[in-house]
Amino acid sequence: GVSGWIEVDLGAIAANVRELKRRAGSADLMAVVKADGYGHGAYPAARAALAGGASSIGVAQLTEALAVRAAGIKAPMLTWLYVPGADFAAALLADIDLAVSTDWALAEVIAAVRSTGKPARIHLKVDTGLARNGAFGADWSALVAQAAAAAAEGAIEIVGVWSHFAYADAPEHPTVRAQQEVFEAAAAEVERAGIRGFQRHLANSAATLTNPSAHYDLVRPGLAIYGLSPTPDIATSAEFGLREAMRVVSRVANVKTVPAGQGVSYGHTYVTDRETRIGLVPMGYADGLPRSGSNAGPALLGERRLTIAGRVCMDQVMLDLGPESPAVAGDEVVLVGSAAAGEPTAEDWAVATGTISYEIVTRMSTRLPRYYR
Ligand code: PLP
Repeated sequence: GVSGWIEVDLGAIAANVRELKRRAGSADLMAVVKADGYGHGAYPAARAALAGGASSIGVAQLTEALAVRAAGIKAPMLTWLYVPGADFAAALLADIDLAVSTDWALAEVIAAVRSTGKPARIHLKVDTGLARNGAFGADWSALVAQAAAAAAEGAIEIVGVWSHFAYADAPEHPTVRAQQEVFEAAAAEVERAGIRGFQRHLANSAATLTNPSAHYDLVRPGLAIYGLSPTPDIATSAEFGLREAMRVVSRVANVKTVPAGQGVSYGHTYVTDRETRIGLVPMGYADGLPRSGSNAGPALLGERRLTIAGRVCMDQVMLDLGPESPAVAGDEVVLVGSAAAGEPTAEDWAVATGTISYEIVTRMSTRLPRYYR
C-alpha cells in the first residue's frame, strides 16, 4: 500500500466536456490541460476531453505541448507562453499551433518556418485589458501588420484571434463588456488586413458557464473540465452540472490514545481537550496539502468529517478522532473528492486555506501516484 494516491475519474472529465459543449452551443471547445492537466495528468485528461467532444487541446508551455503530442494526442494543439529562444522548430515539426503576442515571437516563428519548411498555424493574442500576455494598443496594430505580411508570403496561416478576461468570474463587472468590445474591434482589424477564416476565442470556464455573449467561435475552459466551479459564489459545480474528477485519498497509519491537554504536531498549535484517539494520516505539504491547512483543512474518515489537528507536516497530518473512535490503521481517509459523495472538495480546501481551487489541484505532488478509471 502506498501512503496516498490520487484517483482520477476520466468519465467525469468527458461528461464535463459534454456539458460545457452543450452550453457553448455552436462554438468549438479547446480543453486546457496545462500544469499537467491541473494536476490530473495532461495526457489522460486530454484523451478524456477529446472523447467528450473537445476539438483541440490548449497548454501554456511549449514543452507541455510537445510532451502531450509525444504521448500520442493527434488533435490540434495550441501553446501560448514563451521566452526568446523557444524551440519553435520542434513545435512546427510536431504540428503544434502557436499563439503569438509579440514581434520577437513572430520573428522567431518565421525563422523556424524557414528552417523547417513547415508553415505555422498562428493564433494572434490581443491584450484586451488583463495587462498580462497579448499585444496591447499600438503594438497590436503593428503585430497584425507584421502577421498579415507573413501570411501573404505563405509563411504563416492566421487561424485564431484571442484574448483572456480579468473578471470572467464576475460577469456583470464593467471590464467584461469593455474587454469584449476591444476584442471585437481587434478581430475586425485582422479582417481589414485581409485575413479570413480565423476563430475568435475569449472564454475560460467562467465565461463559458456564465457569459454566452463571450463564446464566439471557440471556448477554452480548464478548471470546469475537471469538475470544479470557477465561480463558487454564483453556483457550485453540481449546480453547473459538473462532477469533480479528482479524489485524493490516504489511509490511517497509526491510531493511539493521548491524554487531555496533549499538544499535537509541531508547535502544539492543537491541544486535546479530553483524552482522545489521534489518527495519523501519511500525507503532508510535500504531497500537496497546503501547510495553511493546519487546524483548518477538512478530511473524511468513514462518515465523519474531521479537521486537521495541529500543523500540516511535510509527510503527515493528524486527526483528533475522539475518545470512542473505532478507527484503525488502514482505514481510508479522503482529503479531496466530490461534494455529492459527502467528501471534502478542492473548493472546501481553498476556502479553509484562503486560496482558489485551482491552486489546490495544481499543487498536488507528483509523489502521489495517479490511478485512472
Ligand atoms: N486560457 C488561458 C490563456 C489561460 O491562461 C487559462 C487558465 O488560466 C485558461 C484559458 C483556462 O482558464 P480556466 O481554468 O479558468 O477555465
